[in-house]
Amino acid sequence: MKAARWHKARDIRIDDIEEPTPGEGQVKIKVAWTGICGSDLHEYVAGPIFVPVDTPHPVSGEKAPIVMGHELAGEVVEIGQGVTRVKVGDRVAVEPILACGECDACRHGKYNLCETLGFHGLSGGGGGFAPYTVVGERWVHRLPDGLSMEQGALVEPAAVALHAVRVSKIKAGDTAAVFGAGPIGLLVVEALRAAGASQILVVEPSKERSDKAVDLGATRAIDPTQDDPVETIRSLTDGGVDVAFEVTGVPDVLPQCIEATQYEGETVIVSIWEKDAAFQPNTVVLQERSIKGTIGYRDVYPATLDLMTRGFFPADKLVTRKIALDDIVEKGFEALVAEKSQIKILVDPSA
Ligand SMILES: [Zn+2]
Ligand SMILES: [Zn+2]
Repeated sequence: MKAARWHKARDIRIDDIEEPTPGEGQVKIKVAWTGICGSDLHEYVAGPIFVPVDTPHPVSGEKAPIVMGHELAGEVVEIGQGVTRVKVGDRVAVEPILACGECDACRHGKYNLCETLGFHGLSGGGGGFAPYTVVGERWVHRLPDGLSMEQGALVEPAAVALHAVRVSKIKAGDTAAVFGAGPIGLLVVEALRAAGASQILVVEPSKERSDKAVDLGATRAIDPTQDDPVETIRSLTDGGVDVAFEVTGVPDVLPQCIEATQYEGETVIVSIWEKDAAFQPNTVVLQERSIKGTIGYRDVYPATLDLMTRGFFPADKLVTRKIALDDIVEKGFEALVAEKSQIKILVDPSA
């Protein structure tokens, strides 16, 4: 079968690989749609970040070249021995976690903090940019009847956003700022709406993206090339927001997030970083502010699916293009690098 595999930065190829078969406790999925993620883009432009290159990933046992694609939904077409929770014909979203199951974090159920955390579709073991992939039955979640496969491909990034909001200190009625309205930033807006934030202020230089944020329910968009985001946020919120979400990965933005929060405010860092980011620690110390990181998700797929059935994280507003596997580099990766109007591009790996 065909598969899009990462060989090195700027080198993703459509290779011919063997179709996988499910082992004990595993299910084989015919992939319907797989989204291209910001982290795929990081791997394409500046990787490797999660892709194992020199030594195999301890959970997958594989290193580059690896099949990419971790935001996927599809239909179960075969089950391995001992699988009880899922049956052939089920429509599922994949939670693409590779965790060891044995480290301290894993033993406490915090599998996203695993010492050797990896992702199906980034760290070996198969991926969604191929017609078929195989995962453990624990990692598939049945799609409610009303949800499309396209919507199913959005569960993974929506779960990132929902988890980020859940680990923050936000409470219904609090104010929030979201720095960056790329795909994850927009999904954070949705999660904040679900959480009952009273104000959701989005800082985003691209007009197309800030318009989309307002369309999704941001209460106001701030163009940082026109207005000072810190001053604007502080004036709109009586001294700063309760929680700021950093979703740009741009070093200069981190201190802005911190200073846009109120005293005792919290900055939640959602981005993965390519380089260092500096801030003056007194901005944290003198206002008893805090900074928190978040990675991936744990135990939020069911809630994400329930929120989707209520209309949150809508695919019809977030999916901007659908492409075939053969076009993944030109119409997928390159388009996402060049066009700010692209939000989520879905790939049909059988087309
Ligand atoms: Zn992702
Ligand atoms: Zn572990």
